[in-house]
Amino acid sequence: MTVISDTQTRPQIERLRLEPVRRTLTVAKKFNVTPNMIRIVLSGDELSGFQSPGADDNIKMIVPDEIGKSVMRSYTPRAYNAEAQELVIDFAVHEAGPATRWALDVEPGDKAVIAGPRGSKRVMGKIDRWLMIADETALPALARRLEDGKSGEQFDCLITVPSESDQQDIESASDVRIDWLHRDETNAAPCDATPLLFALERMDIMPGTYVWIAAEGGVVRTLRNYLMGSRGVDKHWIKATGYWVNGKADTSAKFEE
Ligand SMILES: Cc1cc2nc3c(=O)[nH]c(=O)nc-3n(C[C@H](O)[C@H](O)[C@H](O)COP(=O)(O)OP(=O)(O)OC[C@H]3O[C@@H](n4cnc5c(N)ncnc54)[C@H](O)[C@@H]3O)c2cc1C
Repeated sequence: MTVISDTQTRPQIERLRLEPVRRTLTVAKKFNVTPNMIRIVLSGDELSGFQSPGADDNIKMIVPDEIGKSVMRSYTPRAYNAEAQELVIDFAVHEAGPATRWALDVEPGDKAVIAGPRGSKRVMGKIDRWLMIADETALPALARRLEDGKSGEQFDCLITVPSESDQQDIESASDVRIDWLHRDETNAAPCDATPLLFALERMDIMPGTYVWIAAEGGVVRTLRNYLMGSRGVDKHWIKATGYWVNGKADTSAKFEE
């Protein structure tokens, strides 16, 4: 068992509140980044004042459901260019709920309504290296964090995607190692923790490692319990979020930080 941390030096989460603003924008561009990831670029004057300081911030996409009622789903501001007034959102394609359906159906020129972010969280403290674990829904946040990474920062990443063709090139000034897990090679479902758990079991987790996990809620629970129970990682060194919950629409899962 590796004891990762001591409570005196444990990281703190700094919370920043932002004024939640609803904005009506226009779909400027739409294309596939990879076979199962649609990138939508939103533009419009109403982006003026938009802020997203943290890589794992989220906005709400406000989209119609099957009977035309507005519903909200969480998405990561993948990139924001204030000068060009462009906001980029990446949609992982799955058995479509309303947000995925919307992303599949919209065309450039269509309207898009967003709200938020309502806030942002930053992990502060002496962190020697990061272990980031994600599925494709959290790949936008993970990629953004790597792109924000500074020279000298170290990241080990475990990322599960549907297939090899869903891997992405991510630029970073940091020292980054990524282990891509292709679910089609093991026939694993996106809500199956086994491939990530096997990969984690093979990894050294050094003291001073901060663990960020975002994926399906049950997967996140399994990995978090394993890290705390079998690897001695203190819960204050883990930021874990279920970005979706298998079988439940519009559901995320929170774990104590
Ligand atoms: C903080 C945060 C940030 C997020 N950022 C992103 C992002 O940038 N890009 C992104 O693609 N997603 C992101 N997500 C996940 C996204 O909000 C969910 O996948 C959401 O459920 C999609 O909405 P939907 O309308 O398509 O499906 P819903 O109506 O919510 O769900 C319909 C059904 O689909 C299932 N389902 C939902 N997502 C998946 C999936 N990925 N694979 C298989 N089944 C699924 C549900 O369990 C449900 O049974 C984020 C979630 C959170 C909490």
